[in-house]
Amino acid sequence: MEDTIFGKITRGEIPTDFLYQDEQCVVIKDIYPQAPTHVLIIPRKPIPMLSVADEEDQALLGHLLVVAGKVANQLGVEDAFRLVINNGEGGGQTVFHLHLHILAGRDMKEGELAQGLS
Ligand code: AMP
Repeated sequence: MEDTIFGKITRGEIPTDFLYQDEQCVVIKDIYPQAPTHVLIIPRKPIPMLSVADEEDQALLGHLLVVAGKVANQLGVEDAFRLVINNGEGGGQTVFHLHLHILAGRDMKEGELAQGLS
């Protein structure tokens, strides 16, 4: 697959503050936050998008969810956050290296704001 900005970030080629990191993933702040809290959980393995993940990625995908919960606690938003994965251009994906968005700190319950990232 094509290298992406997230490949460079996960490999440490672009200096970036990691809010959390382990051997499988890193967590960074989104550069264009769509909510007061907006962070990205990025696996070090460059899977282009969720729809091409397969059984061999099962443990990694589970790990990313566990990390999402831990990071939500770390950021103090564990009672009210949204987890988003955009898949494919039509799904709003712009960086083709799988990542999870954690969004929090604004009303997620009603109207347009309930639609996710935009
Ligand atoms: P998506 O549209 O789901 O592919 O999400 C890509 C996200 O990456 C967007 O919310 C961008 O604001 C964010 N983004 C792009 N480049 C960077 C970067 N260098 N550092 C942090 N976030 C970025």
